[in-house]
Amino acid sequence: MAMLLDDDSCYRAMRARDRRFDGRFFVGVASTRIYCRAACAARTPRRENCQFYATVAAAEAAGYRACLRCRPKLPSFGSPDALANGRRGKLSVRRFKSSQGPAFELDYRPPYDWKSMLEFLAARAVGGIEEIDNRAYRRTVGLRCDGREHSGWLEVSQAEKKSALRVVMSPSLAETAPEILDRVTRLMDVSANPVEIAAGLGRLAKSNPGLRVPGAFDGFEIGVRAILGQQVTVAAARTVASRFASAFGMQIRSPFASLNTVFPAPEKIAQLTVDHIARLGVLAARSRSIIALAGATVDGTVQLGPGADVTTELKKLRALPGIGEWTAQYIAMRALDWPDAFPHTDFGVMKALGETNPGRVLKTAEPWRPWRAYAVMHLWRSLHA
Ligand SMILES: [Zn+2]
Repeated sequence: MAMLLDDDSCYRAMRARDRRFDGRFFVGVASTRIYCRAACAARTPRRENCQFYATVAAAEAAGYRACLRCRPKLPSFGSPDALANGRRGKLSVRRFKSSQGPAFELDYRPPYDWKSMLEFLAARAVGGIEEIDNRAYRRTVGLRCDGREHSGWLEVSQAEKKSALRVVMSPSLAETAPEILDRVTRLMDVSANPVEIAAGLGRLAKSNPGLRVPGAFDGFEIGVRAILGQQVTVAAARTVASRFASAFGMQIRSPFASLNTVFPAPEKIAQLTVDHIARLGVLAARSRSIIALAGATVDGTVQLGPGADVTTELKKLRALPGIGEWTAQYIAMRALDWPDAFPHTDFGVMKALGETNPGRVLKTAEPWRPWRAYAVMHLWRSLHA
């Protein structure tokens, strides 16, 4: 298996102890002959002592023994409990009391630009599914957990005087709390190490080191929204995504007047015809693309979630009709939890860099690895700063 990142990028990723690199490479330490996960909490070894491997097998073939602390041979992404305890690293989850339903606080490493996060999500909010005010993000939830369907709503806000986000969910989601918290962690980019990322991005991140990369609460939903967003403005994509959700989504009740729809499941979309979707004002080619993505999600060909092998998933995405490099990279950035994703042909990215040549854009971005998804956020933001 080829390495996704060059050795220097791996070293920077390792210093950030970012769980998103977990399973995506392993590091062998020459001085101890032990190999670790990318985010092992042990002391960071010196650069010259590190060798990087794409797989456990490759590290073992090179003569390294598995670290007893981070246990690189165990699966990267285990049970929801393991997710809550292990993948979050040193960050902690606490319960707190709320009259509305189960409530938790997720610690993050400051700084965190919560205002920019809310602005990004508000500009793209899908009607019926999401609602954002100047304090909180709310959305409906529909998910399958342990073979059962669960639906409800959640709210995320900044905890007062603490480096933590508060998550409150409907009582109907209590059983799925670990899964919900993991999804919120990804959506809100809770586990990032902003100090290391800003150091890696240098001048680009200097004025706003707390800027995060919004992820996905649901990979399929982001995939559909990426396709609907091809070559149109953010506002136009939002309008058509809202129409899509209201046409095919499931109606639910919530205490919030504007939250009444669960985003349509891939099983439902896979059975539609091009006409069903095109009727909403979506180009036939994009309708076809959405149906193909839904089919590939249902049969498991494509896995739009964390822990996916980025190279493989990108290849599979590009093989679907109507999914080019921009869409694939955008999906990797938001749904595959890949901090180095980079839609280098993006109009906003090119404009922010004053570039017209996509090849040169890639070259300019090389020093920002493995944090190019963050670079994208800074570049987009610079356009309306
Ligand atoms: Zn280790």
